[in-house]
Amino acid sequence: MNKTALITGSSRGIGRATAIKLAQSGYNVCINYIERDDLANALAKDLCEKGFNAMTFQADVSDKAGVGAMVKEVENKFGIIDLIVNNAGVAGMALFQDVTDEMWERYFNVNLNGARNTIQAVLPDMIKRKKGVIVNVSSIWGMHGASCEVTYCCTKHALIGLTRALAKEVAPSGIRVNCVAPGVINTDMVQVLGQEVLDELAKETPIGRLGTPEDIANAICFLASDEASFITGQVLVSDGGFIN
Ligand code: NAP
Repeated sequence: MNKTALITGSSRGIGRATAIKLAQSGYNVCINYIERDDLANALAKDLCEKGFNAMTFQADVSDKAGVGAMVKEVENKFGIIDLIVNNAGVAGMALFQDVTDEMWERYFNVNLNGARNTIQAVLPDMIKRKKGVIVNVSSIWGMHGASCEVTYCCTKHALIGLTRALAKEVAPSGIRVNCVAPGVINTDMVQVLGQEVLDELAKETPIGRLGTPEDIANAICFLASDEASFITGQVLVSDGGFIN
């Protein structure tokens, strides 16, 4: 029987590439999104036409009740959830003194509480089955500081804390929890920087290019796989050498 993966924020970018790779690896993939039902549905349709199992699930990960309902819906369709990829995220820049309550709360609600919501909804079943894998998507800015990104940095540092602590707590229950820390990845999220800055960032990256969503999907899928069965509580940096 296929395993089932829930990938938050998989209508676009890193989540989308991850959903494709997991489908190719034999998972039923649950494509979560918040707004872009057009992109999510097109991805599911494309995967199904290729013979894979994929379905879309709309939910704002910051909404605990909404995430609970989504997880129930996934379980009704596929039985159990073997893998959660907490990828949905928001980012943006502001001087620290200009950070509003609204921005601070939204970033924490999506980037940190979103992961808490999905994990808390699925974990009781994983513990009962003594099996499960969780991969969180943090950032190199979850390990280092970035000017004008204090809010984002705080959420991504916290996600690494969640990963490390939860990994210890649930390892005896047969559950692994790891984190990927991407560098600059060429997705919609970084387009606000403009092409000139992106070209500069590519030059500053020792490997000489920006990352692709597929680069990060590969790291996520490795941590999800049995090849990583002795790895838990870790942060796998995939950044072309940027913060080395
Ligand atoms: P992206 O292209 O902006 O895509 C964001 C995805 O998250 C979309 O699928 C979006 O859904 C979804 N999403 C946003 N808020 C959501 C919410 N509240 N509930 C459910 N889904 C939500 O982003 P990306 O670059 O692929 O980034 C994915 C993850 O990697 C994020 O956690 C980000 O912080 C992290 N990351 C990215 C980079 C980078 O350079 N790109 C670097 C380090 C870490 P809709 O399509 O419906 O809007």
